[in-house]
This record gives sequence, C-alpha cells and structure tokens, in this order.
Amino acid sequence: MSQEVIRVYPDPVLREPNEDVALFDDQLRSFVEEMKAIMYAYDGLGLAAPQIGVNRKVAVVGYEGREYVLINPVIVEAKGNQIGEEGCLSFPGLFERVSRPESVTVEFLDEQGQPQTLLATGLLARAVAHEVDHLNGVLLIDKISPLRRTFAKKKFRRLQEA
Ligand SMILES: [Zn+2]
Repeated sequence: MSQEVIRVYPDPVLREPNEDVALFDDQLRSFVEEMKAIMYAYDGLGLAAPQIGVNRKVAVVGYEGREYVLINPVIVEAKGNQIGEEGCLSFPGLFERVSRPESVTVEFLDEQGQPQTLLATGLLARAVAHEVDHLNGVLLIDKISPLRRTFAKKKFRRLQEA
C-alpha cells in the first residue's frame, strides 16, 4: 500500500460533501473491508471514506479489539467534556489537544443496512466524534482555537516539507 492512499490536508476531498449510503451490497461490504485494512496498515484508531478519496458516509473505528462500522452516522446525544491529544491520518505527525464530549450516542447503519445505536465513552467517544466530523467535512484543526490553528498549520506545513 503506497503512502498516497491516505489523502492528506489540504486535499480538497476532505472538505467535500459526503453522500449518504443507500445501497448495502457486496461492493459496499468489500469497501468496508478495504477501509479496515487501510486503518490497520496505518495504525489508525479510525478512518473515514473521504480520507481515501471517497465522498460517502462510511467510517470505521477499531478500538480494544472491536471494530465499528459506521454508515450514515449521526450523533444524537453528547454529554460531558474531555480534553486530550488527538491525531489524524490526514495530518501525519500533528497532534493537538482537542475538546470532545465524554460520551456520545451515535445512530448509524451497519454494513448490512441494519440500524444500530452505540453509546461510546472515553477514547471511543473521541474516535467516533472525530470520524463523524470527517463525514461532515470537519477536521482536527477546526476543533482548536484560531491562534492555535495558525501555529498548527505552520507546523504541519514544515512537517510536510521535511
Ligand atoms: Zn482524522
């Protein structure tokens, strides 16, 4: 797998609208398997379809030996607050302190098209919120203060040049 599989900021595909999935067929399921393989290959906690250049509402999260396939996910409830270091495969080498809900309830469809509800807390809540953000065109650097963002962008540009 080449490094170019992952779309890196500021690739415009990361900001484009993502379409809802309507067809739950074998093609979708093999796409989901491909996403999981890429997530593991890059040692990510999660991966969203636009990060591999596909503007569809599909994300995967791998956490504590469990895999979550989130299709057309919507966060219906968020509670509390946690602040922690967060990275993103589309910002290799950049880590920022980001505020996220301590717990989120997310409704989504699985790869069979069945409706599911997940209550996620802690790091899983952070990962789910991060991936749902991707599917809405929202990125890590949008979650920090404007001042911090200016520094982060500069730092990331230097990392990319190195
Ligand atoms: Zn990300």
